[in-house]
Amino acid sequence: MSLRIRRIEARVVDHPVRSQGAIISFLGRHEASHYATVVVTGDDGLRGFGEATTAPIWSGESAETAKWMIEEYIAPRLVGATFDEPAEALALMDRDLHANGFAKAAVDVALWDLWARSRGATVSSLIADREPRAWIPSRASIGVYPPEETVRLAVEFWERGVRTLKFKTGKPGLDDVARLKAVRDRLGPEPIFTIDANGAYATADQAVRAIEELTPFNLALVEQPTPRDRIGMLAEVRRRVSTPILVDEAVFTPGHLEQAIDQDAFDVLSIYPGKNGGFSHSVAMARRARQVGKACAIGSNLETDLGQAPMACLAASLSAFPTEKYACDLMGALFYDRSAVTPPIVFRDGGVEPPSGPGFGVEPLEGPGRD
Ligand SMILES: [Mg+2]
Repeated sequence: MSLRIRRIEARVVDHPVRSQGAIISFLGRHEASHYATVVVTGDDGLRGFGEATTAPIWSGESAETAKWMIEEYIAPRLVGATFDEPAEALALMDRDLHANGFAKAAVDVALWDLWARSRGATVSSLIADREPRAWIPSRASIGVYPPEETVRLAVEFWERGVRTLKFKTGKPGLDDVARLKAVRDRLGPEPIFTIDANGAYATADQAVRAIEELTPFNLALVEQPTPRDRIGMLAEVRRRVSTPILVDEAVFTPGHLEQAIDQDAFDVLSIYPGKNGGFSHSVAMARRARQVGKACAIGSNLETDLGQAPMACLAASLSAFPTEKYACDLMGALFYDRSAVTPPIVFRDGGVEPPSGPGFGVEPLEGPGRD
């Protein structure tokens, strides 16, 4: 069944983030989610939905640039065209528009959503290589706060059932050893600890030293210790430490993934549609990682439930995601007081239930009006 597009619209939407415990990392403070909601209408009047979770410091895109690129640059190329599958439309976007991955991903996600809805199917049923998981454990990010606040947040997430805690680390002036020690002292050996430096360490020596200082607290993963454009340095750090390396900023696209594979720079790959520039790319990259014996975990730019639905679909459906071993950054319920979609994604026991409806199973509460 082919896909013919009648209209593509984008709307800038602010999603209030709770002020207490806002994620602070080496890159800055995530205080507001200023995103773009995308609606693609098919020839049959059905609609598909996507979200561009833009942050200038992360991908160089804002909600406004994404809206402009989608409506003024991408839409004229796709509206009226017919595609056999969403990946064909994404190939056209990639051909004509460099970068702008979160904008392209929002359109690609909406096309997958529309494509599956027009078949009365779930996207999961179109990509799954295993029996889809009904529940995905979440990993909660704890910003770079002093020890007392770090403990308060860790206890809060722990009491909501989250078993994997991701500590943002590497911000000058804060003692990460004291922060992790305080949480181990308070919660004991059971929580799974991971750290995410967001590229804070400028050299391999600095990264190795910082990781070794934190190793006594039993780290399951070390995420992106070195700068995003230094894949060789990440490979060196991986050779020198025993903790598995999760690559995040250094691998946005399929091309970056090939570089990282060539250099054997990682153990686990952080994946999500916005960063990868499309859901189609996320599926292909997860399959490629599995092919070379690497695992995947879902990363995040603090998506609302609209952005989380395709992420949960990937984690549930693909065997590249050993979710029982590596929890996923599906933490919207921990940072937004209300869901942005209907029906809301169920968060229980520290994890999410992937939506079960057609497409990705959710519709935005705010967005351009219906036909
Ligand atoms: Mg990260």
